[in-house]
Amino acid sequence: MEQLLCAITGMDNFTMQPLAGAHGELTGVMMMAAYHKAKGNKKKYIIIPDSAHGTNPATAAIAGYEIISVPSDKHGVMSLDELKKNLSDEVAGLMITCPDTHGIFHSQIDEIARLVHSVDGLMYYDGANLNAVLGRFRPGDVGFDVMHINLHKTFSTPHGGGGPGSGPVGVTKKLVPYLPVSRVIKRADGTCALNYDYPDSIGYIASFYGNFGIILRAYAYILLLGKEGLKETTDHAVLNANYIRGRLKDHFELAYDRLCMHEAVFSASRQAKRGVHALDIAKFLIDEGIHPPTVYFPLTVKESIMVEPTESESRQTIDHFIEVMLKIDELSKTQPEAVTDRPRSTPVSRPDEVKAARDVNTNYFGKG
Ligand SMILES: *Cc1c(COP(=O)(O)O)cnc(C)c1O
Repeated sequence: MEQLLCAITGMDNFTMQPLAGAHGELTGVMMMAAYHKAKGNKKKYIIIPDSAHGTNPATAAIAGYEIISVPSDKHGVMSLDELKKNLSDEVAGLMITCPDTHGIFHSQIDEIARLVHSVDGLMYYDGANLNAVLGRFRPGDVGFDVMHINLHKTFSTPHGGGGPGSGPVGVTKKLVPYLPVSRVIKRADGTCALNYDYPDSIGYIASFYGNFGIILRAYAYILLLGKEGLKETTDHAVLNANYIRGRLKDHFELAYDRLCMHEAVFSASRQAKRGVHALDIAKFLIDEGIHPPTVYFPLTVKESIMVEPTESESRQTIDHFIEVMLKIDELSKTQPEAVTDRPRSTPVSRPDEVKAARDVNTNYFGKG
């Protein structure tokens, strides 16, 4: 599996230990810190685009860095000018998702890598959106030094599915000495063994060998599809997202009106003016038997609805989703209260979410 992931990403080595994407980030950034420490570099900052997933700044902070947030430009990608303004010798590296959470691929990613490397910073690739580029783009080929893959998002589980997760981390040669122990090695006679003898390793990250079941499922998926099959999943993921984008764009505002990769980000701001917010739309979808898309993320888009159909939804399911979304738009004009009192088909309709978070009742299904 390590070898397959190297071939897919252009990395030189992988650790399968991390238990989720966020855990992979922490593993990766700890290795970045170990690299700078070994070189005697004085580093203080990690640069992160404003469209990033919240785990990126959280990881950098836990690893002891301060965060510099770089705004997106009018095309929806990290501004190169703003990046240049913030680069200094104190920059430890940059964490970026590509395509980013706006569903847009940064066409100047190689230039970004060159700039970050010019201050001996390291490039971290957040691989959560890897299913947009499988077989077409390898982070290792454009200068990324370290990355995680969310196996539970890209390989056989439609975007996460609630977990459990697995976040293998890949590195290029620069960072190999810092990989977690133990590591699987192949002996001269072809048999495998565990090696613990890596004095610069950051140590254990998880018990042997991470979330094994998820790794096994992803392994089977990769073997089953092969190189061409994986490319095809990406084609379908991107086509499905653009189909939805095209059919809904006259009714729901687009965050960025351009072709997208594997996800289309809409804004419900028109509907919100009529009293129907992104949250209401998500709740309505539940009644129609649809798992709602992510709402209010990315934070850069007001009333955002991020639709990621993945490669695995059928035309029929996608058309059903589109029809329901069109119905919601229509209702927002004629009868908004028919949307805002949903869901009706669930045991609990609209919980007080603040109270639910602060005052958890673990005894809901019965007394004692
Ligand atoms: C999901 C996600 C993460 C975190 O991954 P988990 O496996 O949920 O910990 C990080 N970055 C991006 C862009 C994501 O979508």
